[in-house]
Amino acid sequence: MSELRPETRTVHLPQPPLEGSRPITVPLYQTSGFVFDDPAVFADGMNRPDGPFVYGRLSNPTVRSLEEAVAGLEGGVGAVATGSGMGAINSVLLGLLRPGDHVIAQKALYGGTAGALNDLVARFGVEVSYVPEDDPAALRAAVRPSTKLVYLETIANPVTQVADLPGMCAAAREAGLVSVVDNTFASPILCRPIEHGADIVVHSTTKYLGGHTDVLGGIAVFASDELHRKVWKYATGLGATADPFAAWLTLRGIQTLPLRMERHCANAHELALRLDAHPAVAAVHWPGLPSHPSHALAAKLLPGFGGVFSFDLLGGRAAGERFMSAVRLALLAPSLGGVETLILHPATTSHKSLTAEELARHGIGEGTVRVAVGIEHVEDLWADFEQALSRS
Ligand SMILES: *Cc1c(COP(=O)(O)O)cnc(C)c1O
Repeated sequence: MSELRPETRTVHLPQPPLEGSRPITVPLYQTSGFVFDDPAVFADGMNRPDGPFVYGRLSNPTVRSLEEAVAGLEGGVGAVATGSGMGAINSVLLGLLRPGDHVIAQKALYGGTAGALNDLVARFGVEVSYVPEDDPAALRAAVRPSTKLVYLETIANPVTQVADLPGMCAAAREAGLVSVVDNTFASPILCRPIEHGADIVVHSTTKYLGGHTDVLGGIAVFASDELHRKVWKYATGLGATADPFAAWLTLRGIQTLPLRMERHCANAHELALRLDAHPAVAAVHWPGLPSHPSHALAAKLLPGFGGVFSFDLLGGRAAGERFMSAVRLALLAPSLGGVETLILHPATTSHKSLTAEELARHGIGEGTVRVAVGIEHVEDLWADFEQALSRS
């Protein structure tokens, strides 16, 4: 190769082979495509999610490492990583539903998911019925000949209702329906919905799996190869699949997931108890508190109650707004699941599109404050909350 000219040398860079050693960490394969020695292998990779690597939109070794990691944690047979949580949710819904199909969804849904379902109704004539997340009889009663899919969330936002996954997934299975569970708030450390009968688990990996507020991503995990292949085909065609750098950051986050979840849950527990006893607070919504409507179910299903809770101040909306401008350590910001404690006001932000009546149905008050607890020292967080409460 010594006779090559600079214009050629700069294009074809050296790639030293690995001889007798390999990287400790998962390498970032920042390439859009792969080179083949054998044309037959090239053709094979185009057609399946577990084939040889061909082109970045179809598969990438860093992305597949993330898919295998999360499939393993969730007890699934395979996964499709996407550019965001909504990428995973829309790939599942659009990949499995046809015009005229009927969906049964729980009432309390992540805002983006509620929007995606409304869009399917308006654009494709999909019909949606809403049932409580813990009522298998209501699910059975809602089944129609055209029903295809049941959509649940392990822990809902922001008043943290817990779904009766065993009851709801069993009812879905009896009726021959595919059950999809958004497990973002629990993470596979607190819940593995496939063990409770779910067919597909979706995550916004932007939240706990990534865990450091520095990457967007999503993933869908499958209990069967058939569903995996179907959604992989749709997601790759749609162009919703994950970027390798985002997958690499998410893998790095996952390595500390169990440790972080332990601290998120412990901090949430302590803050929820102290807020519940505070004279300025009307109610705290966290499934770990015996007063929460989902407490018995949560205690049965989850080894920890999660790092998100919300609370209502006696002073209503004005008090909530004063609290949010008075906190210093907790940051007023969207999202959750990162190392920092974040707070927001659902009525004017995440749930802004709901009417007063819908807000009430979701259990969200005018003054409800949502807290996504980070992994800071709990006494520093409490000192911040206490000084903010004294001003609200
Ligand atoms: C954030 C979130 C989503 C959407 O994920 P993105 O990564 O923002 O697209 C879906 N479901 C739940 C429960 C979420 O919290």
